[in-house]
Amino acid sequence: MWAVDFASAGIDAPLDILAIAAHPDDVEQTCGAALLRMALAGYRTGVLDLTAGDMGSRGTPELRIEESNAAAKVLRLAWRGNMRWPDARLENTISARMTLAAEIRNLRPRVVILPYWEGRHPDHYKASEIGYESCFLSGLRKLDEETPPHRPAQILYASLYANVAPSFVVDISDHFERRMESLFCYQSQYGDSSQASDLFPAQAEIRDRHAAIARFYGNLIGVKYGEPFVVKETLRVDDLTTLGVQSL
Ligand SMILES: [Zn+2]
Repeated sequence: MWAVDFASAGIDAPLDILAIAAHPDDVEQTCGAALLRMALAGYRTGVLDLTAGDMGSRGTPELRIEESNAAAKVLRLAWRGNMRWPDARLENTISARMTLAAEIRNLRPRVVILPYWEGRHPDHYKASEIGYESCFLSGLRKLDEETPPHRPAQILYASLYANVAPSFVVDISDHFERRMESLFCYQSQYGDSSQASDLFPAQAEIRDRHAAIARFYGNLIGVKYGEPFVVKETLRVDDLTTLGVQSL
């Protein structure tokens, strides 16, 4: 387990929002701008990556962690950790759930963002499942008598790569460029190196692709760029006049 505290508040201060992801650079593609927006609004945000991407064809796990550290600063994260579990072989075991539940108890996030529960890469949907079940375990008093239970109030699923209608979209028009900057901190993955270069499109192409996706979701709420999320529960509304929708 590797972790860095970027904020002066220290590890003892609970996180407001924790994103749990399979690989370093996942959050930078799916919900990094929303995290940045929340950090700029004064919330303590964190990211816990489950693997260090050791099966990637470029770079080393140590380099990926170093790059994720640089990306964390761009996204103004208060905290970032990496479980160093094996890449491309994530397994939802009791030991994985217990370890992650203990980490959730340490970090005490109010909101947890998980990857969408279906996807092409098994690590992504496994991370979603392990994340959800660990959040549940973390709330059980008798799990570990030494640490107080903690159950996050909300679980949101970052659904950018899932072809599903989002429950809501966050306006990231002012934060999209910074998110791209955080993604390009992963020089070993997105730099113009010759090694394995046939697998990776050039940076301009990558930026275009991300801009098109963000533009699509932004368009759904009438803004330039957006990041989509799904919740399994129904959103509660108290005031019909302040819904964030524009019908006409
Ligand atoms: Zn990934």
